[in-house]
Amino acid sequence: MTLAVESELRAVGAVFSGHTAFRNGRHGDGWIEKGFVVRRPELLERFTHAQAQQVRAVWSDVSLVVGASYCGAVVATFVARHLGTQVAFVNDDAGQMAFHRMHLPAPGQRALIVDDLIFSGNDVRAVAAFLEGRGDTVLGVSAWLSRAELPTHPLLTLGNSVFQMYPADRCPLCAQGVPVEYADIRE
Ligand SMILES: [Zn+2]
Repeated sequence: MTLAVESELRAVGAVFSGHTAFRNGRHGDGWIEKGFVVRRPELLERFTHAQAQQVRAVWSDVSLVVGASYCGAVVATFVARHLGTQVAFVNDDAGQMAFHRMHLPAPGQRALIVDDLIFSGNDVRAVAAFLEGRGDTVLGVSAWLSRAELPTHPLLTLGNSVFQMYPADRCPLCAQGVPVEYADIRE
């Protein structure tokens, strides 16, 4: 069942090793361009199939898969199709989370949040708070990889984070004088 997520990402050229400055101010020793998977449905199909298998083994009663616009919504749709559940998209409009107008599920769902790569976890936490605020149970989160811990909800990933991440003022690569190779990256 397991998909060797890191080697799959490397095989399609999505893994960039080197001193990285992220748009949110953090630094790291590399980053992943998820577009190499998201823009190829046959690859996305395999990644999301692995997610669905992992989810099914833990939660047999998911009633709603939720993804955030834009990429997260596409990934969520594929996972929902594998799980045989409905899907809903959420939009964050200047801090105001809401369902996309095409997606208005009844409250009280047993919800699974789906994402591709989790960076800080802030986006996922905001979606979870929105769902719980309207009376859904958030069973957990499914993603390919995560750089963050999610202490409040169970998190299923397809593998371990490939790269390290540092606060910019404590970046060991900066301390060694290594020039930034990739700047303004949003993973
Ligand atoms: Zn640095």
